[in-house]
Amino acid sequence: MTATPRYRGRFAPSPTGALHFGSLVAAVGSWLVARHAGGEWLVRIEDIDPPREVPGSAASILATLGAFGLSPDRPPVYQSQRQEGYAVAFDRLRENGQLFPCWCSRTDLASQGGVHRDGRCIATPDPSRLPAWRLLTPDLLIHWHDDLLGSQSENLREVAGDFVIRRVEGLWSYQLACVVDDADQGITHVVRGADLLDSTARQIHLQRLLALPTPGYLHLPLVLDAEGRKLSKSTAALPVDAADPLPALRAALDWLGVLAPSTAATPETVLRDALHGFGPASLRRSSLGATATL
Ligand code: GLU
Repeated sequence: MTATPRYRGRFAPSPTGALHFGSLVAAVGSWLVARHAGGEWLVRIEDIDPPREVPGSAASILATLGAFGLSPDRPPVYQSQRQEGYAVAFDRLRENGQLFPCWCSRTDLASQGGVHRDGRCIATPDPSRLPAWRLLTPDLLIHWHDDLLGSQSENLREVAGDFVIRRVEGLWSYQLACVVDDADQGITHVVRGADLLDSTARQIHLQRLLALPTPGYLHLPLVLDAEGRKLSKSTAALPVDAADPLPALRAALDWLGVLAPSTAATPETVLRDALHGFGPASLRRSSLGATATL
């Protein structure tokens, strides 16, 4: 890609269904922070998991973003078309002795909380089945700064263990694809939901192993419903209405803690007005005590 600007952000939805309110919040949040910084805003469709993909949802997500006035500065990138980049990164890790094949099942790992920390496969190798490939993860404390949540640290081995880089089915892991693409697209800042906060240490570790730059990170609070449940498990996970975007757009801005003037008539003008006086410091930091009213 061309020379990286001072700020290039992105929204990276998985096409597992129509855009729902939680994703809209992440899209609006990343858009606002990018525009406030005078930067670019890109969209990447994370379609590397065909079994979970819902046909037509990538197109529907892009159309919905457009209806909400959220148009990316460049054509969207599709991870399904980026296999080569992931294979190069995989080979590099493998050649450096950082990967090992693993036939462990969920049952094999149940006694250690589902986390693999042995540095080698503890199951019997089965040549008739393709293995998963895991990263040999050291006992390492990763520190980083979150632009909203402040100083963060995670013990990689404790939390993530020898995490999967290539899945049994031959599919690339989200962690590998995300790191390769953030670097390839020249993303300087990642703004996304706090459900991905604990992926950040894994991604920073992979960036270091692959000699890739580490972008800035900002994690937005998860949207909870009135019962305090995560959106994905609640009725508020319903798709937002592309035909009537203003109510959901105002609710998303409200959730983020951004003043949303009520008189503007189009999503573009609502967003433009929201940008006046916006600063990342005013974003809501915690889901506690807040619920989304849709
Ligand atoms: N595709 C991921 C999701 O929809 C987001 C990945 C990211 O923003 O890093 O949850």
